[in-house]
Amino acid sequence: MKVLVVEDDPGIIEVVSLCFQLRWSGTTIVSASSGGKGVELVESESPDVVILDIGLPDMDGYQVLREIRRFSDVPVIMLTVRSEDTNIAKGLEMGADDYITKPFSHIELIARVQAVLRRAQGVSVSDEEHPYASGKLSVDFSRNEVSLDGKPVKLTSTERKLLYHLIRNEGRILSHESLLSKVWGETYIDARDLLRVHIQHLRTKLGDNSESPTIIVTEHGMGYKFVRPANN
Ligand code: CA
Repeated sequence: MKVLVVEDDPGIIEVVSLCFQLRWSGTTIVSASSGGKGVELVESESPDVVILDIGLPDMDGYQVLREIRRFSDVPVIMLTVRSEDTNIAKGLEMGADDYITKPFSHIELIARVQAVLRRAQGVSVSDEEHPYASGKLSVDFSRNEVSLDGKPVKLTSTERKLLYHLIRNEGRILSHESLLSKVWGETYIDARDLLRVHIQHLRTKLGDNSESPTIIVTEHGMGYKFVRPANN
């Protein structure tokens, strides 16, 4: 596995390297102490996962993330200092896969990395899985292809997995806990804000109305329900 750490604090790079070496002894660590260098290395090194600090000397982590997302859907875990919801939501809205707050334990870091790698591997789709099509939306999970009105829609691996479970349960309410555990894992069952942000993102990409959604419907106090898009 190859990991890119974008962080200007050598102490943190060392801690992260050590965590990875302990858990995955063959890990290659590549590091960048500036955002610009980090973006370059995502392109030239094709890492399996990126650990991205928000406080960097040349640009902030959000800008770096925006640059990375222009050309790559590599899993990105953001490092934050404070656990402010606004910061977390901002990163997730921009396509981060998860975040971790400094100081962190190595167990926490490894757990987060394992979870994003599992999600990045995508959904296990059986051969009998037929492509889904209704209204303007068509989805082929076995080919990882989603399109809206014939135009390709780029989903992150997390969004794809979320959509998969929603569609598989079309017309049925999926509880927050059930979606969180299916997509993120058991340890995330209370992370409703995380789910809400990704649902909003998915709605936008699928052309659903975020004020009064008709495709991914909010069932207050319960969860979410996927409703077959109308054929018109
Ligand atoms: Ca820093």
